[in-house]
Amino acid sequence: LLGPPGVGKGTQAEKLAPELGTCHLSTGDVFRQGQIVPDGQRSPALDTALGAMRRGELVSDDIVIDMVRERAGCLRCRGGFLLDGFPRTVAQAEALDSLLEEQGTHLDAAVYYTVPRQTLIERLSGRRTCPSCNAVFHIASRPPRLPGICDDCSGRLVQRADDCPESISVRLAAYDQNTTPLIDYYRKTNRLLVVEADGPTDTICMRTLALLAEYKVDYHDNGDRNARPATF
Ligand code: AMP
Repeated sequence: LLGPPGVGKGTQAEKLAPELGTCHLSTGDVFRQGQIVPDGQRSPALDTALGAMRRGELVSDDIVIDMVRERAGCLRCRGGFLLDGFPRTVAQAEALDSLLEEQGTHLDAAVYYTVPRQTLIERLSGRRTCPSCNAVFHIASRPPRLPGICDDCSGRLVQRADDCPESISVRLAAYDQNTTPLIDYYRKTNRLLVVEADGPTDTICMRTLALLAEYKVDYHDNGDRNARPATF
């Protein structure tokens, strides 16, 4: 899943993975889980990654690619895989294609979610998450029943450190500079599916599934079975 921070990749991944029967790997979630490793017990790479994440910057390609490589089993999952927040640079996309080839598999499609920039800023600044169960709320569009308390597990909701105003602008700039070129990378290799992501989350999920199904039909119509087996 591709798209700017705040577009709803994580929310859609949670909905799509069970629908498609795939496993789900979120590089952002893996880094956030690293935050609970106590000081002094983190590897230097994890410390560097967490520092970049707090500032809203991208983690270096080497660290991210190594981290995905360590989880390559996920790419061989029988039901397929869904990657959320990876790749984010052309270097990561190229490394992913090589890694997939090594694993005897491939990427069928890159789903690119788009929304207006102002919507992104509103979504990011109002987002609150539950550190215990990862549920996501929004102070205006999806408020919890009790202010500051998770509906699902009663955990105390927090604002992600990188959802503060300074980090949001750094993240959007990093996206413009590093991730936008990926759109061309996947368009040129005929794997880009563009989804308008403004509206209710269920509608966006249905839109994505419909587009994936259509894509599968197109692929069969082209009869190009050897080049790209349909896995949806
Ligand atoms: P996310 O939850 O996907 O918004 O990711 C949160 C943060 O983790 C990002 O702002 C980056 O600091 C870091 N991160 C996650 N995935 C990547 C990636 N593929 N490349 C570089 N940094 C990443």
